[in-house]
Amino acid sequence: MSTLDEVLAANADYAASFGSKGSLALPPARGFAILTCMDARLDPAKYAGLSEGDAHVIRNAGGRASDDAIRSLVISYKLLGTREWFVIHHSNCGMEFFTDDVMRGLLANSLETAALGADGFTDVGAGPGSNEANYIDWLTITDNEQSVTDDVTRIRAHPLVPNTIPIYGYIYDVATGRLVEVADATKAGAPS
Ligand SMILES: [Zn+2]
Repeated sequence: MSTLDEVLAANADYAASFGSKGSLALPPARGFAILTCMDARLDPAKYAGLSEGDAHVIRNAGGRASDDAIRSLVISYKLLGTREWFVIHHSNCGMEFFTDDVMRGLLANSLETAALGADGFTDVGAGPGSNEANYIDWLTITDNEQSVTDDVTRIRAHPLVPNTIPIYGYIYDVATGRLVEVADATKAGAPS
């Protein structure tokens, strides 16, 4: 069975027992938003106890407070009424395993998937690549707690973010499933 067939079969099962979810309201019922990493090991619905309609989940590589993540958070509050936000990065994040220079070098050589070994990512595919990677800030991570604190601090200071919204900073531990608070981040994200 192809991935496409698997996804469509799973969706058919889901839709068959959709029940009353078709009448859920557009604004999130529990009034909060989570910014977190796209890592396949993280399931925010499970780790934070969400059902359909409960909360906004904004995901990107690293769970970083990029301009686009902030765009979503501002919409989440301004138009859809969320009142509390979480920034949740995680242990063993792939964003710790490369730098802008590494990513730019890899993509300059080849667009194919790189290999991850003990010495980091290396190109194993054919060229050509592209220098377009030089124009992207890949928002890599060197220290987990620092990245959470940096992102909470950036969101807190953003001119479109009201100072009444508490922003909590956490790291999800991929070895245990636990959320561990980053105290400096939550402190930086306190409402004022
Ligand atoms: Zn990650």
